[in-house]
Amino acid sequence: MDLDSKASDRPLDPRCLLTPEAGNSEGKTFQDTVGFPVAVVLPAAGCGERMGLSTPKQFCTFLNRPLISYTIETFERISWIRTIVVVVAKESYDQMLQVIHSFHHTKVKVVEGGTTRHRSIFNGLQAFHESTEGPSLIRPKVVIIHDAVRPFVEEDFLLKITLAAKEQGASGAIRPLVSTVIATTSEGYLDHSLERAKYRASEMPQGFLYDIIYQAYQRCSEFDFEFGTECLHLALQYSGTNAKLIEGPPTLWKVTYKRDLAAAESVIKEALSLSACLISGTIAETVALASHLQKNLAANSMTVDVYQSATGNNELLSKTRNFIQISASEESLLEISEMVKVLEEKNHALLYPVVIVWVVTFCGLKGIWKKENTDTAF
Ligand code: C5P
Repeated sequence: MDLDSKASDRPLDPRCLLTPEAGNSEGKTFQDTVGFPVAVVLPAAGCGERMGLSTPKQFCTFLNRPLISYTIETFERISWIRTIVVVVAKESYDQMLQVIHSFHHTKVKVVEGGTTRHRSIFNGLQAFHESTEGPSLIRPKVVIIHDAVRPFVEEDFLLKITLAAKEQGASGAIRPLVSTVIATTSEGYLDHSLERAKYRASEMPQGFLYDIIYQAYQRCSEFDFEFGTECLHLALQYSGTNAKLIEGPPTLWKVTYKRDLAAAESVIKEALSLSACLISGTIAETVALASHLQKNLAANSMTVDVYQSATGNNELLSKTRNFIQISASEESLLEISEMVKVLEEKNHALLYPVVIVWVVTFCGLKGIWKKENTDTAF
């Protein structure tokens, strides 16, 4: 499942990473489609040896924020996902609580991990069962398992995985193999090679009916816990459930080596710079200018959503990174200061650098000049 060598698998168009999907073509929102409880388990208890750093890769920071926080936010923004269980090593427990506090994560429960990935995942699943430590979390119908070190997964793909898991009992992302897999002899010679077209790389996310994967982990052997790597295989072997496999996008790559951190950072940066929210106001002149600007920015690969006003739209403010406010008078300064206030209250800049551009139309500017000869900064 290690994809580091697949440079071509890196996301090509980062806009898809941060643009939330609102719903499908029938006007149904994703929230409407998923009418059952869904939770996520994020195993994050590895030590990241291959990274060659003293800090486990999930806690490595870029743009002032640890990788794990980006992954959590990806899931936290999805309204139909209720709970995120993050499984961390004992020594990282306090650090994880600090991340949750610093970056205002709200849906997260932290659980202690095990010595192998399977043990960590099982610990995560057990958080939904009654224990001596207190009341459990609400048990989900479907649980998504996703590596903490894969921060780029889109809502529409998670929906496909979730619905297939509900329908079939288990589902998982796959990608084409880019290299041929060979078996070697103990002396280091070629034993045999696999026919590449017949095989696929197994990726994350994977989805399961909660009862199916929990039962599989309860029944599996110590050998599976120690050496197994494939949850879909456990579901088949111990719960008799054959997973639906879904071709995933190239954005599912896993941060594995040091250089992947730089790649992840540039993907996030590019995504931030390519999405904006344009606030047009209601005057014909500003609406026309907004439409013109939207077309021009789209020609430069930017995704720009146009709204008449941002006031009172807290969801918009929490999902957007860059704002362009067009106005025909200085009165919209009030709206901008209101927006800044909400962003400050949400501590939004902690998550993303926010850019606000205020455009006053020529006609508006004239008005400002007439009234206050000094107010020309915008
Ligand atoms: O090592 P690998 O890249 O396959 O790890 C995949 C995921 O499993 C990582 O998010 C890692 O933190 C997690 N893991 C875990 N507990 C372990 C080992 C790995 O949660 N004991």
